[in-house]
Amino acid sequence: MAPGVLPKPGTKLGPCSTPCVHRDCEAVRTTASSICPGCKKPIGYDRAYYQVEADDTWVPPGTAGPWHAACLEDQYEKHRQAPTPAAETPIGEAIDVGGDEIEEGF
Ligand SMILES: [Zn+2]
Ligand SMILES: [Zn+2]
Repeated sequence: MAPGVLPKPGTKLGPCSTPCVHRDCEAVRTTASSICPGCKKPIGYDRAYYQVEADDTWVPPGTAGPWHAACLEDQYEKHRQAPTPAAETPIGEAIDVGGDEIEEGF
């Protein structure tokens, strides 16, 4: 996924710098004022951010929404380095003994 950047108010692509009723402007302002779960600061403008989906399971629960790209990358590193619960490899099935049945008489 590529990070997004919110254009500053009053710039060509940014929201109006004065209060307005445009939905797009409202959406940008809402995202900009959202608190990044990583650093607890607003996303703000002119900063790379990612929109985390609720099914991105490697972020802490309840943190779906915009994250600063840098904060999310930190989070990702922590996640990668955290001891992961043993991968669920059914040991019995991991060993393939081949199709031949060896009959060792008893
Ligand atoms: Zn507007
Ligand atoms: Zn942050």
